[in-house]
Amino acid sequence: MKTSIKNKKNKFFGNKKGDGSSVFLVIFVALFVAVMLRAFMTGGGAPMSMGANRAAPIELSFSDVLRRAPDIKTMQIHGQDARGTLNDGTNYRATIAYDPELLEKLASNGASISIDTSKTWLDHLGTWVPILMGLLFIWWIFRGMRGAAGGGIGRSIMGQNPTKIATGSKTTFKDVAGIDSEKQELMEIVDFLKHKDKFKAVGARVPRGILLSGQPGTGKTLLARAIAGEANVPFFAASGSDFSGIIVGLGVAKIKEIFEMAKRNAPCILFIDEIDAIGQRRSQHSFNDQDREQTLNQLLIEMDGFSNDTGIIVIGATNRADMLDPALLRPGRFDRQVYIELPDMAGRREILDLYSKKVKIDGKVNLQDVARGTTGFSGADLENLLNEAALHAVRSGRHEIAPADIEEARDKILMGPRKIRKMRPEDIKLTAYHEAGHAFVSQVYADVTDPIHKATIIPRGRALGMVQHLPIDDKVSMTISEVRANLAVSLAGRAAEEVFFGADKITTGAESDIASATRLARYSITTAGLSPKIGMVAVNQAAAFNSRAPLENASEKTAEIVDGEIRAWLDRAYADASKLLRANRETVRRLAEELLAKETLTGDQIKAIVSGRKKKASTRGRKDAKSTTKSK
Ligand code: ADP
Ligand code: ZN
Repeated sequence: MKTSIKNKKNKFFGNKKGDGSSVFLVIFVALFVAVMLRAFMTGGGAPMSMGANRAAPIELSFSDVLRRAPDIKTMQIHGQDARGTLNDGTNYRATIAYDPELLEKLASNGASISIDTSKTWLDHLGTWVPILMGLLFIWWIFRGMRGAAGGGIGRSIMGQNPTKIATGSKTTFKDVAGIDSEKQELMEIVDFLKHKDKFKAVGARVPRGILLSGQPGTGKTLLARAIAGEANVPFFAASGSDFSGIIVGLGVAKIKEIFEMAKRNAPCILFIDEIDAIGQRRSQHSFNDQDREQTLNQLLIEMDGFSNDTGIIVIGATNRADMLDPALLRPGRFDRQVYIELPDMAGRREILDLYSKKVKIDGKVNLQDVARGTTGFSGADLENLLNEAALHAVRSGRHEIAPADIEEARDKILMGPRKIRKMRPEDIKLTAYHEAGHAFVSQVYADVTDPIHKATIIPRGRALGMVQHLPIDDKVSMTISEVRANLAVSLAGRAAEEVFFGADKITTGAESDIASATRLARYSITTAGLSPKIGMVAVNQAAAFNSRAPLENASEKTAEIVDGEIRAWLDRAYADASKLLRANRETVRRLAEELLAKETLTGDQIKAIVSGRKKKASTRGRKDAKSTTKSK
């Protein structure tokens, strides 16, 4: 959750007293009227001598004038207006373009031509108004910038205020759960803010900037607030994205503004969320690069500028610490880095405990199980989980959150909301066999894969059905047999489609299975050194984070071997799965039919069905693997 608050005053009709924009508006309207007036008057009748004939003049177009040049007796030109008489005595009016050839032609025909270069006051206005308006506009912009740089809270460029003071409710470390080591690290900052003199007496160099990095929702903003709350100092928050705008120089002005404000309120915490928006490495070019660089420079200048004992602590937050310009991380700037991990199982339990106090929960809900089933959830996700569960409980007419509400909320967060089913019966049947395939192979490999939590054919998000696993512990690493088993489980859905419906009936529904299997195989081979053909060479350091990253450190030949290996691993996994399914057709069929009848089967139900017919399970190993949701 981002907490930058924007003061969305109307941009043009600023309503503060003495605000230049309303004065600007009045002048603008007045000038506009004047210009319209001039256009009207020159159009309707001009201050020119009229010919003898008082009859209304005829209108000639410019091409008429060119064509009838020999007929023209006199012409008075005033700007683009021309009038005069024709040889037959008729008065005419025309709008002409400046054309020396025309004048020459007229002259050679003996026409008398007079050009009036005198200007009326309205003409002068026509020249000066645009210039004046331009000057006014520039003045208006600069005025805004001055206000931003020197002015206080509430007066800022375009009426937009990038910062916000936290008032009222105090956040403290009690509100932060599950990340104890990070809290510990930040305690010291609180101590410094509280007892500045103690540190000064020893001559300790205190940090000016702290960089909190970690995924969204891990509590960076919350921690920064808690530091301010614990130390009882004001908290100013801004977001990096507020500092880039359409107007060049805006970022610099805004940086100046927030530091001014911080200095006036020191000791305090100045929090800058999404600091990567300003502090990205300078080599990466983008169209507003120069402006951003100036903004970054201004930030560095400000941070270098205040002395250590001012008592301002700047806390930056980012989920892309690797992208930051190294200049930001030098001593005296953001020289303290705290990385906030996603909470582990114990951490998740603590966060759940914290938020479960704020809702009513049925005694049957086992929060330890909820913590088990939420690998990869951030603190914000967990808070959201309980909130969604509470909403679901209300919708279902309950007064307390029941296990089913948690289940529903978790699936919704993981996979998206339930879909109203509009599927053909044969598609539902195929989905049931697909999920039965996953479930069966997973149960066969129960020794090396995570226990099944449930299998369902209720569509959700993009998935038509899914088999969910529930880890016993947080996964740290996987054995090679776990990898092989997981690959077979992933591909078992497609294998079941082929085994039961034939090779010409397989569907595109295995898309995400194939993607996740490929990712795991590629990671094992290029990064984890599990393939003898590649050996323990890290061919792709980036693979753990992004499977699509191109192979680094790899010759073309190696890249080819890698591709071949991935293919071989996946082919083998698919063959394993198919073989198991063929050998146990009846059991798998029963699983599928049960799924069709009940829509959802629990891990225990699946185990009961399979254990009747269980054939030899080939591998054994540790029981701690990953939390996976194999969606169809
Ligand atoms: P970030 O700044 O890292 O994106 P936030 O601090 O905005 O994350 O977290 C959003 C919300 O999630 C917080 O306001 C808080 O309610 C909840 N939250 C996140 N992490 C924790 C945590 N460790 N303990 C308690 N609540 C948390
Ligand atoms: Zn699947």
